Amino acid sequence: MKNILNTNQMNLKPASFSDDILKDWIENEAWNEPLAKKADAIRRQSYGTEVYFRGLIELTNYCKNNCYYCGIRCGNPKVDRYRLTYEDIMSCCEEGYELGFRTFVLQGGEDPYYTDDIICQIISGIKHAFPDCAVTLSIGEKSRESYQKYFDVGADRYLLREETSNESHYQLLHPESMSMKNRQRCLKDLKEIGYQVGAGFMVDSPYQTTEDIIADLRFLEELQPDMIGIGPFITHKDTPFAKHPSGSVSKTIRLISILRILFPNALLPATTALGTLDPLGREKGLQAGANVVMPNLSPAAVREKYNLYNGKIYSGDESAQARKQLEKRVEAAGYHVVNTRGDVAGFQVMNTCGDVAESHGVNVHDKVSDCHAENSHNENSHNKSSDYHIENSHNESSNYHVTDVNKTFTDCQKGKES
Ligand code: SAM
Repeated sequence: MKNILNTNQMNLKPASFSDDILKDWIENEAWNEPLAKKADAIRRQSYGTEVYFRGLIELTNYCKNNCYYCGIRCGNPKVDRYRLTYEDIMSCCEEGYELGFRTFVLQGGEDPYYTDDIICQIISGIKHAFPDCAVTLSIGEKSRESYQKYFDVGADRYLLREETSNESHYQLLHPESMSMKNRQRCLKDLKEIGYQVGAGFMVDSPYQTTEDIIADLRFLEELQPDMIGIGPFITHKDTPFAKHPSGSVSKTIRLISILRILFPNALLPATTALGTLDPLGREKGLQAGANVVMPNLSPAAVREKYNLYNGKIYSGDESAQARKQLEKRVEAAGYHVVNTRGDVAGFQVMNTCGDVAESHGVNVHDKVSDCHAENSHNENSHNKSSDYHIENSHNESSNYHVTDVNKTFTDCQKGKES
């Protein structure tokens, strides 16, 4: 097997690849290794061997939505529902801070109990107690006004997977009350407000075609998110998709590599879903271009209840408390964990005087002291363009020119939807 990777001609700009090339990469196992090697070389240019840990706090498993793939959908009566209090969340953060986490991700179902005021109180509390930490929200679709309020009290990032970029596929995965248009509106609002935005999709979700995945890649090229989370769809026994098989680990890993090639500077997690289907899934994800891991920091008593899919891992090395073991696994895979916020490459953290306090990204170690130096540094690193060559295990090869490139919970419980 021959893999030619010309790392001297590495680029840091998103590439424009034809649909045919993407289809071939997505569908053929023969591309696993060459894509992973190329992706790893690109991530080393963007982020070195750094891996960022996020403390994941699953604040509620109540959800007013009824996504057909999701275990905590409101139409699943078997879920033992819980909500974390402000105090619960603060003590998770205290424990997480001691363990070295500098980003807290608050994820949950769309739970109307958490009004904007409550969410803002939680964000303010965390930012006040841990000013050197980033707060990431992943609490679903909200109005622009709500997103603005969260941002104004200090939320830094927002994760909202688009799930799919094909309208008819979207409708197969969701009830009528949900729309792809609104999901995409949310992502646009979040970007405009100034969040570091995360999008993404499940791999091999029911009825997904390769063309749907390509549509997602095109959507992401337009959106230019800072983070992209993908993981395999995993069957949940108490959903309408109970008979649909879980997704492919190998295809997911190949897609992580493709994302790294298309988005050299993006933050890409090696997800829990990947680690659920394959005990070495997250290591493989890192070696294929991912650079983020999100150990579970939720209180032990509720972890089992945030059950999105069958077999979701939540204990052992997955738990934030076992961070040291997970760090060793990251090191064994060839990378190292850093205890920083882990912002997207090129992002600047301002201090209260409006000066650059921390700068992240390409050549993350070259911290610069003034804004002009910082700006020219980023411009240089963003304006490279080149050709490069990838060959797969069938010795097929190509030269690619790289260019610059309320409905309420109660309603649902009443059984209005399947
Ligand atoms: N409510 C928020 C939202 O809608 O973005 C965040 C919580 S939601 C449960 C987080 C993500 O879990 C979804 O975006 C979806 O991609 C993923 N997810 C849900 N069910 C899944 C399944 N069966 N297999 C894999 N991922 C799943």
